[in-house]
Amino acid sequence: MSIQSSNIGYPRIGENREWKKVLEKFWSKELTEAQFYVEMEQFRLNNLRKQQEKGINLIPIGDFSYYDHVLDTAVMFGLIPTRFKDEETGVLQTYFDIARGNKGKVASEMTKWFNTNYHFIVPELHNAKPYLRENRLLAMFNEAKDKLGINGKPVIVGPVTLLSLSKGYEDSERAEILAALVPLYIEVFQQLKAAGAEWIQIDEPILVKDIQEGILAEVKEVYGQFTANVPEVNFILQTYFESIEAYEEIIQLPVQAIGLDFVHGKETNLEKISKYGFPEDKILFAGIIDGRNIWKASLLEKAKLVEKLVEAVGEDRLVLQPSCSLLHVPVTLKSEKELDESIKDALSFADEKLDEITLLTKFFNGEVTLAELEKYDEAIERVKNSEYRNVTKVHEAIAKLDQYSSKRVSSKERKEIQENRFNLPLLPTTTIGSFPQTKEVRKERLKWRKGELSNEAYEQYIQAEIKRWIDIQEDLGLDVLVHGEFERTDMVEYFGEKMEGVAISKFGWVQSYGSRCVKPPIIYGDVHCIEPMTVKEAVYAQSLTDKPVKGMLTGPVTIINWSFVRDDISRTEVLNHVALAIREEVEALEANGIAMIQVDEAALREGLPLKEAKTKVYLEAAVYAFRIATSSVKDETQIHTHMCYSNFDDIIEAIDELDADVISIETSRSHGELIDSFEKYKYEKGIGLGVYDIHSPRVPSLEELTLNIARALAVLDERQFWVNPDCGLKTRGETETVAALEIMVEATKLYREKL
Ligand code: GLN
Ligand code: ZN
Repeated sequence: MSIQSSNIGYPRIGENREWKKVLEKFWSKELTEAQFYVEMEQFRLNNLRKQQEKGINLIPIGDFSYYDHVLDTAVMFGLIPTRFKDEETGVLQTYFDIARGNKGKVASEMTKWFNTNYHFIVPELHNAKPYLRENRLLAMFNEAKDKLGINGKPVIVGPVTLLSLSKGYEDSERAEILAALVPLYIEVFQQLKAAGAEWIQIDEPILVKDIQEGILAEVKEVYGQFTANVPEVNFILQTYFESIEAYEEIIQLPVQAIGLDFVHGKETNLEKISKYGFPEDKILFAGIIDGRNIWKASLLEKAKLVEKLVEAVGEDRLVLQPSCSLLHVPVTLKSEKELDESIKDALSFADEKLDEITLLTKFFNGEVTLAELEKYDEAIERVKNSEYRNVTKVHEAIAKLDQYSSKRVSSKERKEIQENRFNLPLLPTTTIGSFPQTKEVRKERLKWRKGELSNEAYEQYIQAEIKRWIDIQEDLGLDVLVHGEFERTDMVEYFGEKMEGVAISKFGWVQSYGSRCVKPPIIYGDVHCIEPMTVKEAVYAQSLTDKPVKGMLTGPVTIINWSFVRDDISRTEVLNHVALAIREEVEALEANGIAMIQVDEAALREGLPLKEAKTKVYLEAAVYAFRIATSSVKDETQIHTHMCYSNFDDIIEAIDELDADVISIETSRSHGELIDSFEKYKYEKGIGLGVYDIHSPRVPSLEELTLNIARALAVLDERQFWVNPDCGLKTRGETETVAALEIMVEATKLYREKL
């Protein structure tokens, strides 16, 4: 025996997002079901073939999906929401209906997969009667074996994680549901075993979160049954994204192998191994290459880590793999033709990461020399010494960061000063920033990008849109205006393009949900700005009106949470680089006469660590960065922020500490709860609770809006309340937007008369 290599999961989307294109063609009926299956099979086999060619020993099977792996698992076990049950449209259509909704039947809820930007479909268990609908793993296992000669490693979301991520049941029903599910899992495993499977990976990432009561007992019971009923298969209990809780208990579970993350949970997992050892009858699947990031690994450093693990468990009991599924990184660097070579030199996408795994495995098996690892690592040295990681201005600023102000005078004092300055009516009306990005706006931008439109012509076009919308806002009678964000494709990418040290790749796509992919900017160097990023548009908009126009920026926390962040320095340091760049922008806006500046932190909450013990440090860094970005302005300058989620209970204190003069937040989908948290907490600064939902084209009624305002004012002071929609209006049509805002202004005016 020797060290083996393995992979946990491979991206589905293809090198050119061809998977997405086939999905969307099928949805729009340009492909028949038969054609769809043929295309998908090609993608699936291609992905497997690549991993085979790269020399990976244990190749995952069943990680491929037509939409989402949690949905796959739920559907496999017949966990289909009742409203879709009697669907006679066929298996595939039902599957997509659950994910996307159909003919008035709403889709299942979608939510974030742990702390990633991947969204899964939340299984609904109301009165579920699980049954084995189809053993998709068996079909894919046989396919890989017959077509490619691969004896694959089937992968499935484990029952405890599946149940913990589902909704529609009471805690008291957990045992019963598990008891119904476990025999079905066993049936799947037995069929796989009979087909020749030797390894089965069962994902239980729930075990890295703070352990809820009863979970350990559940895991013991479930895995005991698996092993008792399918004794000849090697089960890998796979975890990722963090270190496991309850290490001592988990390593004693009756499985043959345990998968641990030695990137994101490295310190703790290592510590636990050295403290409690690792059982002699088990194999350790060690996640050593970062599956969440895109940087080349230092193979020398990784070799040291592997040596430690060898010491702890021995060579024969060690398998090397990425820290988690490679679903979270782009497919291949190969297509990236336009990125600067010196930046590309630093990168490693999914395919390159598999090469790293293979190189290391071969090194430990004596097939690759140390010199080869050293050679690989030279890139890391080059990048370290590159100009873009040695920007004096940034290093100097970081060295004296404590001399930068991060505090303003008290919010009460500011409130008075600002009330006098702006003289706004009670319940001021405003919007969140973006106005509809019509097809035309996108078409003009594309022409400009392709060089078919000159810079001047494009700028003129943007200005004309700004002017048109300033006029519309004046006509509507809104109190605080915005320029509309027509020049921005995306609130993070726009800043990524303008900042030094940040690159936008061409094909660096990652699946976000269903067929939707995102292309996170790559923060590769010391982030800074050479010239203002937003001043021109803001100043132009302000020149057209006497009403205040809010300058519109994306905050440092959101920029880094939605990017791939360099890993040679701490995340906090990168955050502070970005904060300083945004600070300069805030100052530039102020110096150019912009009196209100909104710094959006849409992603602050979703960056919360998986373990509660780490949230304090995260929130402190986040708050500090926001304050660095926003606290150098004069007392009379009003700082706004915006957040688009509605569960605030656990972070409300941090939100308050941001010290923004005005915050606007999404509420219309869960008004009650949110208002409760603000009432309990006694929040005193300006606050706009979204009074209507912008996620649908529906125009709200006057009564509805009046009611929402009234509900908020029942607990909030009329001198602190702002009236605004839930979020930006970028995805809406123009007609519905104007209609909705008209009613919003009218409701506000009627309400003011009552005050
Ligand atoms: N200012 C941004 C907009 O209006 C905010 C978007 C967001 O919160 N996601 O589009
Ligand atoms: Zn929002």
